[in-house]
Parts: sequence; structure tokens; C-alpha cells
Amino acid sequence: MQKRDSEGRIIRNTKPLFEKEPIVDDCLPCIRHDKKVCSAYLSPAQKWRLGDCPLATHVTVMIKEDSGKKRVGQQKQTIKR
Ligand code: SF4
Repeated sequence: MQKRDSEGRIIRNTKPLFEKEPIVDDCLPCIRHDKKVCSAYLSPAQKWRLGDCPLATHVTVMIKEDSGKKRVGQQKQTIKR
């Protein structure tokens, strides 16, 4: 049942479905927050719970490269006599 005001107009729920949680200490150098609220995620603590936040602007990911060559699809050599 929809709520109506005295003139018969439908009153919509103005409360947002989700409340944004405040940022955590790890978020402080990031530029994606404004007034202690993240612009990307609802719950910054959940993003930092299992590791670095994937959208953090102050975290750089270093990828190691193997210098040695890897041989792929090499068949076993048979010794013929
Ligand atoms: S993007 Fe990640 S690091 Fe940046 S404020 Fe949001 S939760 Fe924090």
C-alpha cells in the first residue's frame, strides 16, 4: 500500500537503499574519497579486509617477470639405436 499525502499524491521513500560507510585508515592517501566517504564502494572496510583495495590510487602492483626462458609443448626425446 502506497502512502499518500492529504492531496492524494503518492509519498515516495526518500531514504536511500544503502548507506555509505565511512572510509578506513588505509583509504586516507586515496583520492577517491570525499568528506570521509568513498565514491567507489559502499563499504571500504570490506575492500581492505582481504588485501589491498582494487581501486586504491595509492597502491601500485609490482609484477615480477621471469628472466629465464620457458619451453612449452616440448616432446620427450626418444633414443633410437
Ligand atoms: S577506492 Fe578503495 S582505497 Fe580509495 S577510498 Fe575507496 S575503498 Fe578506500
